[in-house]
Amino acid sequence: MLVLAKELKQVDNYSFTINWADERKDLFKLSFLQKNCPCSLCMGRQINVEEEVKAVRILSVGSYALRIEFSSGCSKGIFTFSFLKSLSLEGE
Ligand SMILES: [Zn+2]
Repeated sequence: MLVLAKELKQVDNYSFTINWADERKDLFKLSFLQKNCPCSLCMGRQINVEEEVKAVRILSVGSYALRIEFSSGCSKGIFTFSFLKSLSLEGE
């Protein structure tokens, strides 16, 4: 199933919210996302993530994913919306 995000809002330097098309809203911490980063640098590795990690940029990839450039560590993580949603459900 295609997961669609309606709106992304920065909360502070360390977190943002996504409003989903189904009206739910989830809060994401950048440090949490980097811990779960699916890029080739991070995946399957124990990476050191600074609690204070920020996003230099968050770019949308088509209508299905976000690419997050972290301020430290890596900058190539592509987070599909369905992956983000599964992370947020995990945290509940
Ligand atoms: Zn990464």
